[in-house]
Amino acid sequence: MTIQHDLLKARLLGLLIVVTLIALAFQNFGPEKQLVLGQDDNIHVEVIDDRNNGGKSIATLKRDGESFILNCEIIPSDYQWPYCEISFILIDAKGRGIDLSNHHQATVWAKYSTPQDFGVRFQLVNFNKAYSDIKDAKTLKYNAIELFNTHERYPQVIQMHHMQVPTWWLSQGRIPPEYWGPEFNEVRGVQISTGEHVKPGVYQLIIDRVEISGKYISDRTLYFSLLCVWTLLALAFFVDTLRKTKRELHNNQQRQKQLEDLNNLLNQEHQQLEERLTRDPLTGVLNRDGLAPVFNQNVGDATPQLSLIFIDIDHFKNINDTYGHNVGDQVLLAFSQALSENTRTQDLIARWGGEEFVLACPDTAMENAVGLAEKLRRCIEENDWPKALRVTASFGVAQMQKNESPTDFIARADRALYVAKAQGRNCVRTSNPSADNN
Ligand code: GH3
Ligand code: MG
Ligand code: MG
Repeated sequence: MTIQHDLLKARLLGLLIVVTLIALAFQNFGPEKQLVLGQDDNIHVEVIDDRNNGGKSIATLKRDGESFILNCEIIPSDYQWPYCEISFILIDAKGRGIDLSNHHQATVWAKYSTPQDFGVRFQLVNFNKAYSDIKDAKTLKYNAIELFNTHERYPQVIQMHHMQVPTWWLSQGRIPPEYWGPEFNEVRGVQISTGEHVKPGVYQLIIDRVEISGKYISDRTLYFSLLCVWTLLALAFFVDTLRKTKRELHNNQQRQKQLEDLNNLLNQEHQQLEERLTRDPLTGVLNRDGLAPVFNQNVGDATPQLSLIFIDIDHFKNINDTYGHNVGDQVLLAFSQALSENTRTQDLIARWGGEEFVLACPDTAMENAVGLAEKLRRCIEENDWPKALRVTASFGVAQMQKNESPTDFIARADRALYVAKAQGRNCVRTSNPSADNN
């Protein structure tokens, strides 16, 4: 699922990279759209001279193949700026001009029939309702440039941002400064006329063709669109990554919790298992394995203070025989409880087997252990037992000697117990190490 998701993301990214590269390559090196004037008979062409402005110059126009021939006679008059002009009208069916704001270059094939340099003016007239009146052609903005050396430089290539709006037009229309720059968003006419300083005389201006080329989409629009798309994609990737990371974090936390739970369970089971291995199931006191560590802790001590009391219930077989095994078990349980109720917490009680118990007393000298055994003996004797039984026990006490092995130590306590049994039971006997060794 996630791999497919990542694959989809990678494909999307790859697609966008390819689209961006193609768009950039097309924008910078691809073909441009062209507006061609001079060949299309559908474009209306007008010839104009200064008689409209009170002058006397006379302009006539004729076609010569695909070329226009502007015959012009500049005649001096009261009008200060005599001229002859050809105007390509670019008004569409809805009465609107053409948006050339994405166009950047104009190529003009226009020259005088003789090599003299009289200058040729090239103009794009633009409509803007902020300052133009549709009924008054003079209110259209003149974006103009004067071309010289028309014979040597044929055609003339013009960067449209080099065109200027003449100051006479700005002052005549009292145009506010924000509209002083060239504008091409609704061009209504392309005009070619005699130059500003043309002298009186007869001229012939040959206009072969005008090409205005431009991008299908402006640099600004393209780069802004690409930036928007990339930003949106980056945002989507960001949100997606954030969600994914949160999800993974959540999953990890859950997995960690599950592992912790499992670990706790294993620890519990481990503890229970350890308990089972070291405890006697009937009485709950330690078994032999559970008692073993206490000996190892004291082995090797210079003066071990570990005392051991070996305890055996007297005539226990009779209880079993008389009252049954169950009652025997109850007595064993009550016996172990009596032992633990009357010993310190650091004393360790273990069931050695059958009706035999061992009490290990750390930090306990022999005489204290003997005192404890005596106390226990009396407690057992006076305890309330099931079936109002009378229960007694015999005790063998020993203190661990320096360098004595646990086995020898336990055997000595066991021998003391044997003596107690032999001497009538229900009594405490001690082990004398020197006598035992003999
Ligand atoms: P003594 O005074 O010499 O110790 O005599 P005794 O009868 O106590 O000793 P003996 O070794 O003859 O008998 C011990 C009996 O303990 C024998 C056995 O059936 C009984 N016994 C051992 N383990 C258990 C047990 O877990 N439950 C019960 N109910 N009886 C047990
Ligand atoms: Mg026994
Ligand atoms: Mg016994």
